[in-house]
Amino acid sequence: MRYFIGNWKMFGIPSSHKILYKINAFFKRDKNNKKKYKIIIAPPFTLLHDFSKRFKSSKISISSQNCYHKDFYGAHTGNISPFMIKKLGINYTLIGHSENRASGENNKLIGEKISLALKNKLSVILCIGENKIEKRNKKTFSVLKKQLSQSITSKKYLKKIIIAYEPLWSIGSGRVPSKNELEKIIVNIKKYLNKKFRLKRKNIRILYGGSVDKQSVLNFKAINELDGFLIGGASKSSKNFIDIIKNFYK
Ligand code: PEP
Repeated sequence: MRYFIGNWKMFGIPSSHKILYKINAFFKRDKNNKKKYKIIIAPPFTLLHDFSKRFKSSKISISSQNCYHKDFYGAHTGNISPFMIKKLGINYTLIGHSENRASGENNKLIGEKISLALKNKLSVILCIGENKIEKRNKKTFSVLKKQLSQSITSKKYLKKIIIAYEPLWSIGSGRVPSKNELEKIIVNIKKYLNKKFRLKRKNIRILYGGSVDKQSVLNFKAINELDGFLIGGASKSSKNFIDIIKNFYK
């Protein structure tokens, strides 16, 4: 099963549901859909309730983009708990996106978010990735290992986590890793987690995110171990998002 996950970031108003209806219509008529892939869209918090109701009986799942790290309710102005998200009928949340890490989220906090999200029966899409300098200094894998080991604490957790490898230098930049470079990283992450948690490699899911569009997706088709994509900019247009899926299975 592959995943095509759209991260809308700070985009969307109530009428943006039209984008999802178009994606859903494509999915229903696409003969590749059976068992092959799953679509998840992460709109902003403001649209979660409406989208969750509208697409409840469709094949598109809805995800939140983040969640708070403690309590059901509490004096945490401006924050939303996993409990509140789950009560909307939502089953997924992104955690650890680099844009949130850049505003202060560290691995420890991300680990707390993961465990509270899982306790509330949300599956987690955990974002990890190195920046340009770390890549230049050949620190990619040590950065990824640290992000993983400091935020995932048990095998039980790992089963409910989809990992999205998103190099920061690629997000929104139009630059993507080569096929070989990406394949090596994905395989290394799987080997590392397999060794650390003794979970079979086939049960570990790793996606790639960063400037995925209908062109760049072609580079990655041949990577067997890659379990899908986290798509930012191109997920805000139904056509661009659908073209990625079409090109992947062409
Ligand atoms: C993202 O921010 O998760 C992302 C992958 O963005 P983009 O596709 O626009 O690079």
